[in-house]
Amino acid sequence: MEVHAQLLTESKMFCACPTRFGDLPNTNVCPICLGMPGTLPVPNKKAVEHVIRTALALNCRIAPVAMFYRKNYFYPDLPKGYQISQYGEVHPIGTRGYLEIEVEGERLPVRIRRVHLEEDTGKLFHYLPGESEVDFNRAGAPLMEIVTDFPPDLHSAEAAKEYLVQLRAVLTYLGVCDGKMEEGSLRCEPNISVAPVGSTQLGVKTELKNLNSFRSVVRGIEFEIERQIKILESGGQVVQETRGWNEEGGYSFPMRTKEFEQDYRYFPEPDIVPIQITDEWLESLRATIPELPLQKADRYRKEYGLGATETRILTADIHTATYFEQCVALGIEPKTASNWITVELQARLNETNTDIRHSKLQPAHLADLIDLLRKGVISGRIAKELFDEVFQTGEMPSRIVQARGLVQISDEDALRAAARKVIADNPDVVAKYRAGKTSVLGFLVGQIMRETQGRANPQRASEILREELN
Ligand code: ZN
Ligand code: MN
Repeated sequence: MEVHAQLLTESKMFCACPTRFGDLPNTNVCPICLGMPGTLPVPNKKAVEHVIRTALALNCRIAPVAMFYRKNYFYPDLPKGYQISQYGEVHPIGTRGYLEIEVEGERLPVRIRRVHLEEDTGKLFHYLPGESEVDFNRAGAPLMEIVTDFPPDLHSAEAAKEYLVQLRAVLTYLGVCDGKMEEGSLRCEPNISVAPVGSTQLGVKTELKNLNSFRSVVRGIEFEIERQIKILESGGQVVQETRGWNEEGGYSFPMRTKEFEQDYRYFPEPDIVPIQITDEWLESLRATIPELPLQKADRYRKEYGLGATETRILTADIHTATYFEQCVALGIEPKTASNWITVELQARLNETNTDIRHSKLQPAHLADLIDLLRKGVISGRIAKELFDEVFQTGEMPSRIVQARGLVQISDEDALRAAARKVIADNPDVVAKYRAGKTSVLGFLVGQIMRETQGRANPQRASEILREELN
């Protein structure tokens, strides 16, 4: 699995142009990133540090001296005619690491061959047949490439997805990449081959491109496995090539036959001095590595007694984990906080396609709401309604309760009056109850809730109702 991650830096890899997404085409460019003769690249230190930190988090060996190489090929989105990248087994920033993933409850280390730093290309737009335009805003933006080792540890589409989910989580925890697959800041290219069961010799591989969601990764790999098996079983041969993925049609198609390493004519980049990664620098960066997703998940299980599914949701990205930890810091019981976040909040964030960081319902709102509920000021039903309202408006729940008189009715006389009215209005049901069918009690309590617009304390209402009926 090859993954390209756009690094979160202000400026490009070898010049000072901004890396902002969505600006007008060809506005964030300069002679360096346009590849003008006579210009000289200067590496972006932040980008180097992002890659070192990622390599450390992925348990890699860090090169004492990292070097850049030129990867030569011609394509219209590559103004210099070569890409500055890293090469070989020694000079990439990180080599020979692993990432632990969880498949069906089991931990599996996926070996990483290398983590290296390079520059991105521009972007081509194909409007009409024979008519293409190029935007160089992305050209020269820092790009990190992470490649898994060979022979592969990933043996199914599901495991490949798990690997990506876990890797994306690690990158967002480190703050080195925003992980937005749909915007192209995280791009993956699985290499797929099949072999007869029990054989150690892998078949000819194909590489898939244009997979921009976890869903298309799974579908693409499954399609490719089926396609290769069909070819082989009918006596044909798989061609080593790069294939595109058509998401609507659900099929892959040939893009180009694969280049081989010698086609790129790699050689050391003569314009950039080798980068010495001292122990001191390394240790200062190691100190900045936060608690990672799987460690966090383990801690939530142990410390808070949370289940596997909820810890997975809570730790899938750093912002959800931070939100949860803020709730706990505000005194919300962890299990309660987890329930509200993984059920109610997640549902609304998904429905409205909102990032948790931009949620109007913040941990302080949730703490306030749970407090009202715990003290019996509001009923559970009102709490859910309030949750919706706060999610939309960002208003404090206790303020809404005060302004709107949503305070729960626990008052004896008011509840008794409501119970009597319900008994008078439902003679048939009451008759059933008195004939021994006590299961209708729930229906009658429901009527009291309706009578009071959901404000009755259900427990008290049920007690009083029973008294009145008896
Ligand atoms: Zn530039
Ligand atoms: Mn690359």
